[in-house]
Amino acid sequence: MDTILANPWKDRRPDGYDVVVVGSGYGGSITAARLANATLNPHRTVCILERGQEWPIGKFPDNLGDLLGNTYNPLLNPLGLYEFDVFPDIAVIKGNGLGGTSLVNANVAIRPEPDVFATWPSALRQASQIGESKPGSLWNYYKLAEETLEVSSHPTGSSLKKFQALKKRALELGLLVETLPLAVNFQKEGVEVFQRNGKSIVKRKCIDCGDCVTGCNVGAKNTLYMNYLPLAKAGGAHIFTQSEVEHIEKGQDDHWIIHVNHRDDPVSSDEATIIARTVILAAGALGTPTILLRSRDEGLSTSPTLGSRFSGNGDFFALAYNSNQVTDILGWGNHQADPISKLVRAGPSIMGLVRYHEKELPNQRFVIEDLSIPLGRIGMLPLWPFVFCQALSRVIRTVLRRRSDLTRISWALMFRVL
Ligand SMILES: Cc1cc2nc3c(=O)[nH]c(=O)nc-3n(C[C@H](O)[C@H](O)[C@H](O)COP(=O)(O)OP(=O)(O)OC[C@H]3O[C@@H](n4cnc5c(N)ncnc54)[C@H](O)[C@@H]3O)c2cc1C
Repeated sequence: MDTILANPWKDRRPDGYDVVVVGSGYGGSITAARLANATLNPHRTVCILERGQEWPIGKFPDNLGDLLGNTYNPLLNPLGLYEFDVFPDIAVIKGNGLGGTSLVNANVAIRPEPDVFATWPSALRQASQIGESKPGSLWNYYKLAEETLEVSSHPTGSSLKKFQALKKRALELGLLVETLPLAVNFQKEGVEVFQRNGKSIVKRKCIDCGDCVTGCNVGAKNTLYMNYLPLAKAGGAHIFTQSEVEHIEKGQDDHWIIHVNHRDDPVSSDEATIIARTVILAAGALGTPTILLRSRDEGLSTSPTLGSRFSGNGDFFALAYNSNQVTDILGWGNHQADPISKLVRAGPSIMGLVRYHEKELPNQRFVIEDLSIPLGRIGMLPLWPFVFCQALSRVIRTVLRRRSDLTRISWALMFRVL
């Protein structure tokens, strides 16, 4: 695949780096961007090591075959984009690529409520209690991240069918529905974010195609590939993709030795070491402990609590179907010439939110958000017979109940009833 941000593997500095950042998700990209651009004397050399590959815009899977073909597997498909880890009591979805899970997440950029920090380490708790724009306030950093990720709300999001469905239920319960702040570009068209060797990364306006979580092929999603990673690169950071950190070891003179498996392709790999004065492990909630556990097996001294006290983010997915509310949640991808794409308007994966039990303690509260599902065009193909039967039974019932309501017998029903 063409690369714009990644350096060739042979370009690594033989004498190592001041800072090596492992992983290019939010943790890694933001840290690398800020360090690479810090006005320090001397300037710090920074490198990012990312296990997955670079995903230029327009190359994300867009059909069932490519989607399945890009499922990560450490042995069979180590460069696959979508990683699913299924354990007895939790399932984890992650992105494996330059930009980490930002490539496949739902773009919602909402701030936590302040009392969430009550049980966090004291430095964060105290910083969360300082009001925004005052020195030392945690909220100043949220603002900075929101500006860099260019967070905004969908200008016409409240007209989306799924938002109206959420609103209808909220009103029935006497609750409010909110449009969410999203890391999605709704305004700028054709803005070049970065260019190198005649290739560029270009930002485009969201087309409401609904395919955010399989990877945005429009260039509208403000993933880390569109902001912090180009910023890191512009600050001189070296970015090596397809470079999996196996373990780290403390060398002489307090330097770190990083053991890396670099893959030119999914089947071959070479082992190499990189030296760093500082290593920042930002390989995700599972990736970082995995590297540390492997390092411990190789003799690194670690905390006895390593790998414990882990929790998920408490997300549940639920699907309602065959209701009398049209929701238009099947994404159709970036196929603007396709006539059905004019009929379907799924919108960004998540757009609206309703807060439940707002006045209760944090562990009693929950929110419900709408959700669009990508790959309606082809990915849902195996479900069409089921959708068709549901639609048909619905049509028959509707006709029997209200003979005049023939407008409901339409193609749109088949495509939009889910
Ligand atoms: C489908 C989905 C939707 C989501 N929607 C939202 C949302 O709307 N809003 C929100 O706030 N959050 C959302 N999230 C969660 C959010 O995306 C993650 O919490 C966030 O991306 C985690 O960032 P991170 O930097 O910790 O890890 P990651 O983004 O996972 O980055 C870790 C990186 O490290 C790399 N890596 C792992 N092991 C190694 C290794 N050994 N060597 C080198 N590199 C390695 C990985 O390939 C990856 O690129 C969503 C998540 C998913 C899966």
